[in-house]
Order: sequence, then C-alpha cells, then structure tokens
Amino acid sequence: MTSESKPAHFLQNIIREDLAEGRVDQLTTRFPPEPNGYLHIGHAKSICLNFGLAKEFGGQCNLRFDDTNPAKEEEEYVDAIKRDVSWLGFDWAGDARYTSDYFDQLHQWAISLIEQGKAYVCDLSPEEAREYRGTLKAPGKNSPHRDRSVEENLDLFARMTAGEFDEGSCSLRAKIDMAAPNINLRDPIIYRIKKMAHHQTGDKWCVYPSYDFAHGQSDAIEGISHSICTLEFEDHKPLYDWFIENLPVPARPRQYEFARLQLNYTVVSKRKLKQLVDEGFVDGWDDPRMPTLSGLRRRGVTPAAIRQFCEMIGVTRSDSTVDVGMLEYAIRDDLDKNAPRAMCVMAPLKVTLTNYPEGQQEMLSAPGHPVRDDLPARELPFTKTLYIEQEDFREEANKKYKRLVLGKKVRLRNAYVIKADEVVKNDAGEIVEVLCSVDLDTLGKDPADGVKPKGVIHWVSADNNVDCEVRLYDRLFNEEAPDAGGKNFLESVNPDNLQILSGCKAEIGLAQAEAEKGYQFERNGYFCRDSKYGSAEKPVFNRTIGLRDSWAKEQSK
Ligand code: ATP
Ligand code: MG
Repeated sequence: MTSESKPAHFLQNIIREDLAEGRVDQLTTRFPPEPNGYLHIGHAKSICLNFGLAKEFGGQCNLRFDDTNPAKEEEEYVDAIKRDVSWLGFDWAGDARYTSDYFDQLHQWAISLIEQGKAYVCDLSPEEAREYRGTLKAPGKNSPHRDRSVEENLDLFARMTAGEFDEGSCSLRAKIDMAAPNINLRDPIIYRIKKMAHHQTGDKWCVYPSYDFAHGQSDAIEGISHSICTLEFEDHKPLYDWFIENLPVPARPRQYEFARLQLNYTVVSKRKLKQLVDEGFVDGWDDPRMPTLSGLRRRGVTPAAIRQFCEMIGVTRSDSTVDVGMLEYAIRDDLDKNAPRAMCVMAPLKVTLTNYPEGQQEMLSAPGHPVRDDLPARELPFTKTLYIEQEDFREEANKKYKRLVLGKKVRLRNAYVIKADEVVKNDAGEIVEVLCSVDLDTLGKDPADGVKPKGVIHWVSADNNVDCEVRLYDRLFNEEAPDAGGKNFLESVNPDNLQILSGCKAEIGLAQAEAEKGYQFERNGYFCRDSKYGSAEKPVFNRTIGLRDSWAKEQSK
C-alpha cells in the first residue's frame, strides 16, 4: 500500500483546495506534544500526518512543546520526544519551539482582552466555579465578579502576576456567555496562579495560560495554516475561533480534527503508561513491552514499519479501534524484507559427530538473506560438537515430525546431513547428548541429487558461538480493551509478558550484532540485541516478533 495507490483523505482534500484557491500560500502544520511523558504509537499517527502533509505539499511542520503546565513537565521528556521524532524520520522546521517562548505575548493578549472588557478576574473557588458553570442540560450562572471594571481587572491581574495572591484564590476568565450550550464557552479560565518553577522559564512567572488560551494563539504566532488535532478538541473549536477573532493575532489558523489511534491489547495514554513505569510493571518508558516509540525501538521495530502502519490505518473522522495484528504485520513485513538471517539455539542439546575429526573447524558459508544479495554472506564454523534445539530431537516420532529422530537423518541448515545413532542420558533419564554421524558428501545437495533428509533444523557450533540471553515478550495486556468502560487497566496486565532464557547459543557472527538492529533467527522469529542490558561477551537479544502472521492470513480469507 503506498500513498499513490490510496485515495486522498479528507485533510489532503481540504489542503489541496486551500492551496488551489489561494486561501493559504504555504501549508504550515505543527506537532504539539506536552512534555509530560514519552511518545507512544498514537503520537506516531499524528507525527506521520503533520510532517507527512508538510512534505507532500511542500510546506513545513514545526515541533512545539506545549508546556503550559509546569507541574507535570520535564526536560527529560523534551529530549526523549526530540529523539523519537528524529528517529521516526522527520525534521522539524527551524529549532524546536515552546509555548513558553510566547508567555510574554500571551500575557499581553490577556491584558488586551481585559481592556476590551472581554476578560475579568474571578475570585470564585474551584468548587464554586464548578457550581456556577451549570451542566450539559442547565445553563450556568454569572460569576458575582463578572462586572468588575476594566481598571479593577487590570489592577487585579497585575497583582496576580506579581504573586500577591495564593494559588486557587482567583483566576482570569474570558467573558463570553455563561448560558452557551457549549460549556467551553462559559467564561473559560485563561490564566491561573501556579507558584511553581517552569522547566524553560524558571521562576519568571507565577501565572500560566490555560491550554485553550495558549494553543490557538501559539498557532497564530507561528503562522500555522492547518492546526490538526484529535477529535476530543472538536468542542473546543468555537473557543479557539473566539480567541482568534477577539485578539490582534498576526494570522488566522484553522483547527481540523481527526480520530485518534486506538489499538486493541494496548493502552495509549501517557498518564497510564506513566503508571506502568511508576508502579514497576515495566522497566522504564523504553521497556521493550511498552507501546512507546522508545520501547518499540528497543524491541527492534524499525521506523519504516511504523510509518507503513500509519499509512495502512489511514486518516478519518470516525473513532475505531485498530487490531494490533496490523501493527505486528507491518513490523514483520519490514523485517522479513530487510533483516539478515542468523541461527540461535534457545534450549541447547549437545550433538557429537562421532565420525568428524577432533579439533577440526571448517568455515561454511550461508546467505545473509534469501533474496537480498546486498546483505553479506555469513561464515559458520562447523565442528565435531554442535548444539541443536532440545525440541528438534526425539527418540521416536510419527511422520509429521520432520526433525531429528533416532536412526534417521536430518539436514543441518546451511550444512551437512546427519544421522542420529545413539542417545546419552543422565541418571535422571534425561537426554543430554545425541551421538550422530555426518555425511560430508551432502553439502548443498538436494533431493535431485538423491539426498532426502526428513527436514531441516538449525544449529550452532558448540566450540565457537556466542553465549547469550534471549528475552521473549508477549503482549503487555491479555484483554482486548484493557481500559474500556472505567476498568482498572492494571488488572489486565498479562502476567506472562516476559520469558527470559539464559544459556542460549547464537552463531558467532552475532557477537558483532548492533543494538536495535533486527535479525531473523531462523525458525524462531525476529530479534535484536538489547541496548540496555547484556555485555560484549554475553549479549541479550530481544524478540521483536514471532514468524507467524495471523493478521495477514485473516485478511485473505
Ligand atoms: P495522552 O492522552 O497520551 O497524554 P495527549 O493528546 O494528551 O495524549 P499530547 O502530548 O498533548 O498528548 O499530544 C500531542 C499530539 O499528539 C496532539 O496533537 C494529540 O492530538 C496527538 N495524539 C495523542 N495521542 C494520539 C493518538 N492516540 N492518536 C493520534 N494522535 C494522538
Ligand atoms: Mg494532552
């Protein structure tokens, strides 16, 4: 699926018309994260949309940190967000911007509203204000402070700004309409007192603008032509427009809404993801089980796979939940095409080739990828003792079992055919070794040459390999809608979401594996070296995803 073969979505149509009819000279969009957590797969949809449209229509996209709430925001998140947007493959126009860069201008505009008689300082407590606000069915009541004079309001706002009043004792509100059917227009708060240092502006301010007051005006300052947000802001649009109409802003941006990404078996809310981190369900925001961009990266997911997924899900105005199988499909599809192949034995069983010379090592060559000849071939040391998977050997088996059986032959992948002659057991009766004979005349020969082993299994040399740990991840939640209908999502955390296998043996070339770069471990799935755990001698490999694709099969039924 490419953008060429897909019909245009509603935002592409709107932008094309705006440009064609001269309503807009240059498309300018922005991606406006609040730096209160790491970016997740839902943000990827917004990033691909905003940056993608700018690219498609020759415009620009800004990165703006929406940092109006000093209580929850941190520099760590700013850095992580920048890293993740770049990693996804996008460049923002100029430097990263901050809503806090505009605090002086926003403060002047608040004064401008007061001077026009369109804002007032209100002393109602938060509880009283809630009561005066009314409900969806009942109109609100005017605040007793609504008719203060311009002079009094200017004086009170100056004193709020100077720090004379306590937090919560008063706020600055727009004077719109307490009976408006849209609750957002019932004299919304535009400035509140917060006696708190800000990660960008330090101690300069003790009053901060509300999100609603800051957002549209920041868009106007930056000359944003299309301010694209998710559907929950639809009800805020009349307020967005009211501020733009009532302030001497330098441009008239317009807001458009699209449906946010929801994925089954996943939560995409920074607040909930933070809870998983804070309560120790995962090991940090970049834990490979997290749906964060940093978690997906550490897990071995590529930016191309995420962009492909965002292309597949499209952009609409109706809320729906996407099957996580679709994301898994995009991840697997990309790795299948691009990941070099390798072998790794997860649960080793020793095999001794009784007719192979002691101390000999020959180097066999194996392709880096079945069709990509630009990926370099691998060198596989072959020796008298090898490891195969425990589950790839049985003393007896029926015809369906196409692996190694006592008295029968099997092909070692990229190597020779061997035959199992004898089993060695320990005192407990467990198989600890299989004695085999190797047929050195079978390299590269197939059934046409009369070489017909039952199957092919993977292996590594027991003398020359990489000892490693393998981490198998499963879905983080075992319920389709972990946070639906007020459910406590923590109760659906899958208790078996991580299995750690130690003593795994990988082919020697993987000693040089780069962190986060994907490999297909033949017959086992896609893996990458972990960037946080493991050492040069003993790497840790994360399973990105298994080989089996149930989603694509489902689609072709
Ligand atoms: P969260 O609920 O996770 O905190 P948010 O919307 O509060 O998300 P912001 O940092 O404000 O997070 O989001 C930055 C941008 O990303 C916004 O424009 C927002 O609409 C968009 N966005 C956030 N979540 C999604 C999602 N699931 N799908 C699409 N866009 C999203
Ligand atoms: Mg938010």
